[in-house]
Amino acid sequence: MRAWPVWSLRGPALAYVLIVQAVAVGLSIHVVLTTPKPDPVELLHFGLLALVAGVVIVATSVSISVRHEVRRNPWTIHIAYLAAGVLTLPVNLLVLLLLGPALHGILDGRPQLHRWMFTTSATALATFAARVTVGWDEPVWTPLSFVVGGTVLILVRASLVAVGIRLRRPSAGRHEVLGDPIDVLLAIVAATLGGLIAVALLAEPISALLAAPPLALLDLASQLPQWRRSAQRDAKTGLANVLHWERVASTELTRARIRGRPGAVLLVDLDHFKRVNDEHGHLAGDAVLSSVAIMLTSSVRREDVVGRFGGEEFVVLLPRTDPDEAYAVAQRVRWAISTLSVQAQDLSGTPRELNDLTASIGVAATAKHGYELPDLLGAADAALMSAKADGRNLVNLA
Ligand code: GH3
Ligand code: MG
Ligand code: MG
Repeated sequence: MRAWPVWSLRGPALAYVLIVQAVAVGLSIHVVLTTPKPDPVELLHFGLLALVAGVVIVATSVSISVRHEVRRNPWTIHIAYLAAGVLTLPVNLLVLLLLGPALHGILDGRPQLHRWMFTTSATALATFAARVTVGWDEPVWTPLSFVVGGTVLILVRASLVAVGIRLRRPSAGRHEVLGDPIDVLLAIVAATLGGLIAVALLAEPISALLAAPPLALLDLASQLPQWRRSAQRDAKTGLANVLHWERVASTELTRARIRGRPGAVLLVDLDHFKRVNDEHGHLAGDAVLSSVAIMLTSSVRREDVVGRFGGEEFVVLLPRTDPDEAYAVAQRVRWAISTLSVQAQDLSGTPRELNDLTASIGVAATAKHGYELPDLLGAADAALMSAKADGRNLVNLA
């Protein structure tokens, strides 16, 4: 128990996690001990909800494990059937339904069980809060209570989790604390589906089983941001991959042509990069690529589009930029790369600081080469080649 990662949390974060868990467990025990035994109809409702949720969770877990995928945001499905439970079940059976996320954590073999326990507790407290708003003993069933209950479930849960993340890592960014915007939409869809399952359950209990396909789809849809990210981003540097960059750059160039605005493309190639790999190993080479990616992104404007063109080559599209400005930006990037100092480990695992990095840059502008991306890239590549031939660590305007 001493080895549990939960003990590695900082003081306030640890206190918060323990309090949330203790309150959730205490309330659950209190509810189970003080609520009268459910009647057969309530047991039927519980059984059907648990069955449909259980079948979907097991099926999606098996399919994810067979495909060696890692489930992202596994909570959407739990919000759906818990919302249905909030609106239909007596509170003691609602507590039993909260075992769903716990079981799921074990089934999925979650590497950080203490986080899962915390999120389950936060979900339990949010479920209780939602139940209070729709009526603790007997849920009142109106479209308004449906919306208010769902909103409370989502907001309380998100707030409890957000506070936990902030306490654990005060430097956590907004995105990390609040999650991906699509997760908010997924939670709303889940709560809505939960409401509809509740309607079905009350009208014709067996029809709740029809919720299995939409629940499974919802679970799969939770993976969407991951798929979108891997389709657009280069895994090593986090920059746009070449396909995505080309799509965005072409769209920007079309827009620039229609509006009669200038633009430019930079093609950046690190000099003698093979030597970095040969002397310090590929992991050190990767660390250099990541540092260059961060440096590139931070040394251009927000509207400039940075991508990894391949290997140790990067591309930047500069909208609304004339040739002189593009040349100046390229010189700034070249200089920034030459001052870069990268912390890395060499082949023997010794920490090392890698300096003396340089890059050659080819620049092509729409003023001379037009708005077609292949033409601009071709011109920038030719300019890059001559920068290499002229001795490297140079910028060349096509
Ligand atoms: P030049 O100055 O002429 O550009 O020389 P160079 O060594 O940079 O160019 P070359 O094309 O000969 O070698 C590029 C090297 O980049 C070879 C390849 O191993 C390395 N490389 C490509 N992609 C990656 C990567 O993802 N990680 C690492 N560590 N190295 C990479
Ligand atoms: Mg190259
Ligand atoms: Mg190179």
